[in-house]
Amino acid sequence: LFEGPVDFLKGVVAMSGLPPADRVELCFAGRSNVGKSSLINALTDRKSLARTSNTPGRTQEINFFTLGTSHYMVDLPGYGYAKAPLGVVKKWQDLLKSYLSGRPNLRRAFVLIDGRHGVKAVDEEIFSLLDKSAVTFQCVITKADKVKTTAQEAMLDQVRERLSRHPAAFPELVLTSSNDGTGIADLRAIIANLA
Ligand code: GDP
Repeated sequence: LFEGPVDFLKGVVAMSGLPPADRVELCFAGRSNVGKSSLINALTDRKSLARTSNTPGRTQEINFFTLGTSHYMVDLPGYGYAKAPLGVVKKWQDLLKSYLSGRPNLRRAFVLIDGRHGVKAVDEEIFSLLDKSAVTFQCVITKADKVKTTAQEAMLDQVRERLSRHPAAFPELVLTSSNDGTGIADLRAIIANLA
């Protein structure tokens, strides 16, 4: 699906470190532990391409990956991790704001939502930041295997209801599970079609 190699390119800690904006770019955001690393690994069919947000040192970096020859895939640090010192959080938020508002080739942000928890207040903060930055975003529900079929519609409705207040939100949700592969092919197709 993605022609050419999928590789870690670099971790960026300041705007000056961004690679040239010469490819279609997409990014992944989500609360710590939402399943972001697992999803990136499932998408790219690589066991440990993305490391968990608990990996020391990589937490505050914006991690760039090449996705074939035409896309950059960007892994934003997990947010909502209560233990981070305030100064660190502030520095990270400034970098995130600069990145989101100043990246001309960024086509879409995928915001991951844990299917067991739905949309939380910290997710809404990211939604609002994306609105302000005029970055189209799409919610990807993770850990679908943990949500009973009977509870799925109510969960999806909660997410849709929250999204309806956000002008930058792309209305269509993607339901995924890195454990059983649900929705992974759909998400790949969505990414491949970003132009
Ligand atoms: P990150 O912090 O967002 O990168 O999250 P991880 O990918 O490290 O996953 C956090 C935890 O959720 C780990 O214990 C994973 O095994 C688990 N997890 C991730 N994806 C899934 C999934 O699709 N289904 C289930 N049941 N657990 C998952």
